[in-house]
Formats: sequence, C-alpha cells, structure tokens
Amino acid sequence: MKRVETGVTVTLKPHRAARVLTGHPWIYNSEVLEIPKAQDGEIVSVYEKNGRFLGQGLFNNRSQILIRMLCRGPERIDLANEAGFFRERLTAAVRYREKTATDTNAYRLIYSEGDGLPGLIVDRYNKTLVMQILSAGMDLRRELIISILVDLTGCTGIYERSESSSRTLEGLEPTSGVVYGSVESPLQITENGIHYVVDIHRGQKTGFFLDQRENRALIGRLSKGLRVLNCFSYTGGFSIAAAKGGATSVESLDISDDAIALAGRNAELNGVSDICQWEAANVFDRLPQYVREERRYDMIILDPPAFTKSKASIPGAIRGYKEINLRALKLLAPGGILVTCSCSHHIDVDTFKSLVQEAAMDAHRRTRVISIRGAGPDHPILLAAPETDYLKCMVIEVI
Ligand code: SAH
Repeated sequence: MKRVETGVTVTLKPHRAARVLTGHPWIYNSEVLEIPKAQDGEIVSVYEKNGRFLGQGLFNNRSQILIRMLCRGPERIDLANEAGFFRERLTAAVRYREKTATDTNAYRLIYSEGDGLPGLIVDRYNKTLVMQILSAGMDLRRELIISILVDLTGCTGIYERSESSSRTLEGLEPTSGVVYGSVESPLQITENGIHYVVDIHRGQKTGFFLDQRENRALIGRLSKGLRVLNCFSYTGGFSIAAAKGGATSVESLDISDDAIALAGRNAELNGVSDICQWEAANVFDRLPQYVREERRYDMIILDPPAFTKSKASIPGAIRGYKEINLRALKLLAPGGILVTCSCSHHIDVDTFKSLVQEAAMDAHRRTRVISIRGAGPDHPILLAAPETDYLKCMVIEVI
C-alpha cells in the first residue's frame, strides 16, 4: 500500500487501532511497534499495521502518552503550514465560546483535548488570559500560540501558570509568569451580574472555578429565603450567588485563609456582607460538630477538591464523599436542598449517585433530584474521552 509521507511515521501494534478509531485522543508508548526517532513535541503520522492512515498527533517520548492526536484521517495537517492549522483550531475555540459562554466576561477559552488542542488550557478573565501549557507539543509552540491568542482575543496580558503535576509527567519543568503585555492581580470579573475578585497569581487552579458558573447561576435562582451553608467555599462563588439570589443567611467554610480573605472582599463588592459569614475551618471537623449541635439549614453546598486522583484511592474517596453527604443530609431541614459536587473523574456519575443515595438511606432522609449537572459548555466533553468529563453537580431536595 502506498503511503503519503507526512514527516515521521509511527505504526501501531496489531489490534491497537480500535480506541483511536473511536476518537480517543491518546496513544500509549506500549501500543506502538517501534518508538520513532522524532523530537519531543513534533507532529508524527500514525498508521495502522495494515497501512491505513489514522491521523497525526503530538509526539513525546518522555510521557507514557506517546502521542496526543490532533487530527484524524483523512484530514491531514500540512506540516509546511503548521501555524495555519493551530490558528484554525484556536479560532474555532474562540468562536465556540462566543456562542456558548454568555453572561460572563470570564470563561475557559481553550480546554485542551475538548478543543482539539491537547495540553493547552486558556482561561479568559476579562481582558487578561491565564494559560497552562501541559504537553511537550504545546510547549514547543508556545510563541506561536501566544501570538495567535493575542491576535484573536485582543487581550491586554497573558499570565502563564504551568504548574500542574501533569507537566512533570510530560518531562517539563513547572513555569509561571507574565508572557505577554501587562497583567494585574487580583483582577475583577463579572459573572451572571455578580462581581468577583480573582487572584490569578496565587489563587487555586488559574484563580477561579470557572467550571461551576452555570451551577452558581442555578443556586442563585433557588436560594430565595433560605439559610445556606456553603462547604469548601473557596472565594465564595456559590455563597455570593446565593446571597444575591435572596438567601437570608449564608455561612461559608474553607480551609484556606487566603480564599476566605478574598471571599470577604467579594461579599463587600456585591453589597452582601451583612448576610454572609466566613470561617477558615476544616469541613470534616465542622460538619459533625454542627450535627451534634442540631443546627438546621435549608440549603447545603458541598464542592470539595478531588478526593482521588488515581484508581487505587477510589474506595477511600467514596468513603470521604459519603461522610460529608451523610452529615449534610442530617443538617437539612425538611424541603431543604443539597447541592453536592465531585470533580474526581475516577468517580463516575453512577457511582456518585449511588453513594449519595446510600448516604440518604443512612441519614434516614428521602430525596428527589432537582437537577443533575456538570461543567458549563466552555469545558466541552468528548464522548470518546471520558477523561474530559470530570465535574458532577447534583441538586437534590430532601422530602
Ligand atoms: N465552590 C468553589 C470551589 C471549591 S474548590 C467555587 O465555586 O469557587 C475546593 C475548596 O476546598 C478549596 O478552596 C480548598 O481550599 C477547600 N478545602 C480543601 N479541603 C478542605 C477541608 N478539609 N475543609 C475545608 N475546605 C477545604
């Protein structure tokens, strides 16, 4: 069979093409016949053993994920005009947000595999972009990416926060700092009519949990007249949404002093300081204490950090989720609402539903679902790659 040469080629071992053919974007180093002599970050062409062209992807011999697919056959990237390919992909991502990210000037502009740009995450905070480069392929093209981003968005500054542990897995050093223009931090954003101060230098992730935007909007609509407890509040995203939505009181807990300090500023900025109370505390201590004190709330929000980042620790994570859900359910008054989230992609939605149901049984509470949700559309999910679908947010009523 005649092959069209498009740079370095890689051939898969027999029977290893199925996942790639379903659209999954990763090829592991154990799946190829021979590791080619290619530069880390280079675009290589992938073939099936029988000679069929499967597509092209970013090569990195330092990672277990040897190739991150960029395109599938018959589409081909013209290696002589690689810049044109990346400009097209970035343009498509920007256009997609123009359609889907409404009522906000802060959203995820580029979501890695979800936008066909593996290892590139860019969050837009008004006129400032915060970028994470998490693959060797994107690292090699950082100048190109920065210049296209500036051109497409008209941003005034780009701050890089490439600190994630996934960078280590790619054999890359962590790096952070201003990479374009001038950058202010903390800066201010407006989401669903609410103003938030965001510390893009030192805040968690890139500064704000943009993935919860649409869930914060729902909580705002449900909160009128409620006594709310927001656990793992970070800088008060859900708390301010509830307060602005008409909650009568909002108590918030987060273990981070920095997060609680910014949360206080956010309450002031939105004129809701009088109904908000903030405490830097451990939720695992406070919830059992509140149960002992027989406190009652009408809405409890649980949005903890990922309790597991590996398959091995799934059982422990399930116990952790179950414990906080059990306590929260006990604290809810009849007709109360539990907003319970998990951002561990190893805990799938069915597992999450079952553990919340078990917690409800143990707490002797009957529940019904108001809404089962995920991240907003600026974090597009690839059905072929379950790894892109990580956030679960269940809103349930206790009856
Ligand atoms: N709901 C928030 C994001 C929550 S992120 C928003 O919409 O912005 C998870 C938060 O949990 C982080 O701020 C982290 O500091 C906090 N956290 C982690 N472990 C904790 C614990 N044991 N007790 C209280 N807070 C904790």
